[in-house]
Amino acid sequence: MSEKIILLGDARAPALTVPDALEAPTGLLADALGRPLHDLRISVTDRCNFRCVYCMPKEVFDKDYAYLPHASLLSFEEIARVAALFIAHGVEKIRLTGGEPLLRKDLERLVAQLRALPTPSGRPLDLTLTTNGSLLARKARALKDAGLDRVTVSLDAIDDEVFRRMNDVDFKVADVLDGIDAAHTAGLGPIKVNMVVKRGMNDGQILPMARHFKDTPFILRFIEYMDVGASNGWNMDEVVPSGEVVRRIAAELPLAPVGANYAGETAARWRYLDGGGEVGMISSVTQAFCHDCSRIRLSTEGKLYTCLFATRGHDLRALLRDGSSDAALSSAIGRLWRQRADRYSETRSVNTEGLSRRLDSAQKIEMSYIGG
Ligand code: SAM
Repeated sequence: MSEKIILLGDARAPALTVPDALEAPTGLLADALGRPLHDLRISVTDRCNFRCVYCMPKEVFDKDYAYLPHASLLSFEEIARVAALFIAHGVEKIRLTGGEPLLRKDLERLVAQLRALPTPSGRPLDLTLTTNGSLLARKARALKDAGLDRVTVSLDAIDDEVFRRMNDVDFKVADVLDGIDAAHTAGLGPIKVNMVVKRGMNDGQILPMARHFKDTPFILRFIEYMDVGASNGWNMDEVVPSGEVVRRIAAELPLAPVGANYAGETAARWRYLDGGGEVGMISSVTQAFCHDCSRIRLSTEGKLYTCLFATRGHDLRALLRDGSSDAALSSAIGRLWRQRADRYSETRSVNTEGLSRRLDSAQKIEMSYIGG
């Protein structure tokens, strides 16, 4: 048996360094491969009430698992300060995630603080949140009132038994559907529903999910199971390529491709020929989209990750808490982005061609820590 190293946090993150000459943000940052900075994902907690077998498996995330202590989490005020700096650098979209973001107490207070941030263009920030939906029925109205634009809800099956097996905490599909309805009623749309497809586990749910969400206001998106983190024992054989998902749906419900809404959209869009709406395919394994990735991630404890598959973060919290000025923080962020050259998924696509196994996974950070 090969040794598996589970990286539970990222203690090795070096402090972000401040350049000698400070620079004012122009909103036009480009990384080493010419990619702009548009999206900021903020993880507000490393905790989750689900134990999805492919993300936070029970064997690893058990009762002895050491979650981050409260003092190491960024406060809402710290998060809002960082967000303002990123907006000045050109970020137009902020997604709150985790762990399960709705487990963070009073999250609507953070939403209100982010909503109040001015943007250089005067255009409103696109403020969204990814959730497992379990607490959405209770929280949707308060989130909307605080200024959240929309939500993306993760749901891996419409069959209750399959869903309970996947979330591994016996959570019911009906409760997630209630959350989706509450979000819709509150006006948190357009609502996207994300289904991670793992072969042998829930690929039998592709068509039932498509049938369920067809002719509804909700946009179902299928996500290829990714080799993120090291706790899920990822294997290429368990990935159902998006091409296969499209073929399986189209055999019963004919589909045609639709153009992207905007450059850099992660999901390829397909519409039902009978006018029943559309579905999206997020092919992060078989058709990597690193070339136009404009995302940066802020972990729960204030480390910046320039790629979901990064093996190392950059500690922004140290600067936040040592009295550094906004100009210093902003210059450090600018320098980090300019040096960014990550394109993990593109190189992984080459590596995994013809191979049915995982390569070089030992050092990757868990998705629940970095923020999905
Ligand atoms: N708890 C929230 C939720 O369930 O949406 C937010 C965090 S969760 C880590 C974000 C998304 O990442 C979920 O849709 C989840 O299914 C997805 N995810 C987690 N591990 C994944 C993997 N190995 N491959 C693809 N998607 C994954």
